[in-house]
Amino acid sequence: MKRESSPNLRMCLCYAIVIFLYLCTAQTLRSQPNISNNEEMQSKAVDSVKSIRMAEMTSPDIKSAIEQGYTAVVVAVGSTEQHGPHLPTMTDTRIGDELAHRVAMKLGHTLQAITITVGCSKHHLSFPGTISLRDETLRMIILDYIDSLIRGGFNRIVFLPMHGGNFPIVQATLKEAQIAHPGIEIIGVTDVTKLLDCMNAASAEFGIKANESGAHAGESETSIMMALEKNLVIKDRFAPGYVGLTGEKELKIIFEQGMPALTKNGVLGDPRKASADKGEIYLDRLTEFLIREIKKQSH
Ligand SMILES: [Zn+2]
Repeated sequence: MKRESSPNLRMCLCYAIVIFLYLCTAQTLRSQPNISNNEEMQSKAVDSVKSIRMAEMTSPDIKSAIEQGYTAVVVAVGSTEQHGPHLPTMTDTRIGDELAHRVAMKLGHTLQAITITVGCSKHHLSFPGTISLRDETLRMIILDYIDSLIRGGFNRIVFLPMHGGNFPIVQATLKEAQIAHPGIEIIGVTDVTKLLDCMNAASAEFGIKANESGAHAGESETSIMMALEKNLVIKDRFAPGYVGLTGEKELKIIFEQGMPALTKNGVLGDPRKASADKGEIYLDRLTEFLIREIKKQSH
């Protein structure tokens, strides 16, 4: 029995040595390409830069993008507020997010930070679903965004407010932040009149008057939402809201007394001529306008 078992033992030992050697070699082979694995990761990071939405990227990929020159970042400032009976409360946030993405793509070497989804909407609060920040809260959110983005390695930060109530506070906060961080480019397209002029110029091309195009949930915003989120637009509820002039006097009424003082259904404008095709054109024009304004402000 002993004589028979020892060759078996020897065989077992041989197998064990072969397996051991194989494992060692495999380990060496595996650790060797670790260097090229890193290269592979790098090239994957280059690919992932194409997505540019930081919220969808990993931290190492964002780091790698910054190292490759993606040192600019765009942030939209949206709102969560009533948009009449036919548009969702995320309208400004959705449009801002889309425009920030298009702007970042066109600027090149630019990432998009997650959109600020709630803004200063006090004048809409009598309509349920509206969530409003105090001016001071939005100021602090913007300052914290800036501090975080600078810490991460960005040196050019662009804010795009997409809701009327946010413009003054974004403008003031960016000025404050620029003084605090002179070495960083802090830019904002914060002239609401120019933005509305851009929309109205596009409306005029479609034969739509500025008062129909509207400042809130009118034809222009409705068209854009039809282009972006057609399933969230309730067409059979399209109805005109306030279609008079929206000048300084009217804006004062809105901000001091709230939207219902001017419009019962929460709409400024008339959505009935809205279409997705027009929405695409509005998005193109707004993107071009924002790029022009950003380039004007670049150091
Ligand atoms: Zn809006």
